[in-house]
Amino acid sequence: MKFNTGLLHGKAVGPYANGATLPPVTQSNAFRYDSFETLERVFAHKTMGYAYSRIGNPTVSALEQRINELEGGVGAVAASSGMAAVSMALLTILSPGDEVIAASGLYGGTIDLFGDLEKLGIHTRFVPLLTPEEIEPLITPRTRCIFGEVISNPALRVTDIAAVAELAHSHGLPFLVDSTTATPYLVRPLSLGADIVIHSSSKYITGSGDAISGVIVDGGKFRWDFARYPALKGFEHTGPFAFLMRLRTDVLENFGGCLAPMNAFLNVVGLETLGLRMERICANAAALAKALDELGGLQVNHPTLHEQALCQRQLQGLGGGILTFRAGSKERAVAILNALNYAHIASNIGDVRTLVIHPASTIFMKSTPAQREAAGVFDDTIRVSVGIEDASDLIEDFTAAIRSV
Ligand SMILES: *Cc1c(COP(=O)(O)O)cnc(C)c1O
Repeated sequence: MKFNTGLLHGKAVGPYANGATLPPVTQSNAFRYDSFETLERVFAHKTMGYAYSRIGNPTVSALEQRINELEGGVGAVAASSGMAAVSMALLTILSPGDEVIAASGLYGGTIDLFGDLEKLGIHTRFVPLLTPEEIEPLITPRTRCIFGEVISNPALRVTDIAAVAELAHSHGLPFLVDSTTATPYLVRPLSLGADIVIHSSSKYITGSGDAISGVIVDGGKFRWDFARYPALKGFEHTGPFAFLMRLRTDVLENFGGCLAPMNAFLNVVGLETLGLRMERICANAAALAKALDELGGLQVNHPTLHEQALCQRQLQGLGGGILTFRAGSKERAVAILNALNYAHIASNIGDVRTLVIHPASTIFMKSTPAQREAAGVFDDTIRVSVGIEDASDLIEDFTAAIRSV
């Protein structure tokens, strides 16, 4: 079964009650039982069942199972947002005094989160590029994980997943990877050695910009050294499932970042067309990047222009749906944004509509100039999240807006 067929006919797809083709939206907080003893067993995780929708919900499970199958994991946990997914994944394994090594070109919200984690005594060391050569010198006895993005947003650097995973494992460290911008259509990071995959499913998975949501998938292969991960205390008996079990039964339950059933449903509906949309979006993005590059002087960034080898080897020859270019000054960038007809000025990616933003004054508002530069965000940078419109219309629109200034 290939990718698109799997989205509709995979093992995790149904069956659902009454022959429904989609999972019913179980919009219920609680689940009633005929005997108290059964509910007691459900609470003790001795019987499969639902008790309360913060802990588990059938619609949310339907989404988790589909994404877990796509990524090839041992289990997935859905979250109320991509940020909830990133924070819950980190809180599952980190304790005060621990260190993380991360790429400096990460999503702005994740960089802010690492700043917040400093207040909990968790320190992050940033590398300009997530490569074994840059990571290795920063590893200390306190390092507990490596964190990166497959295609960083908005720096658009492609991480060599297999190389970073190999280095991480040689130091007994797990590699956590945010694959939001790549999606399973481009790459399945667990198959290349990553240990935990995180998505903001608000983006390409839901697809139409209709549900803030996230998901974490555990590859189940990392051998946790419980002496080094006191956060996993109490889960030693679960062995390689310790991450998933602590995430589901401690972190999700107690921090409470659960996904709403309706948003899980919207994610499932979106997921079914992920392949079709990504095929179109990636082709559009590569075509627009090439056309803008040919205009000259715009410093266009798209993985198909600057990371061809890794795109070929790891991303099916594709470069994802985001590109950036530099307008020459902030004023010109703003004038271009305002002159576009089809692209909406909006803070999101992964929509079917083309969206544009000036990252320096929005997503990276809280970052220092050094943090911005490290993330590839300059005063004149425009980020484009390319949609499914006709490529020729997009090229015409951007060309006209750029020429007009
Ligand atoms: C958007 C995004 C997030 C955060 O996701 P939300 O659903 O907005 O909370 C995390 N990582 C990446 C790469 C993103 O693009």
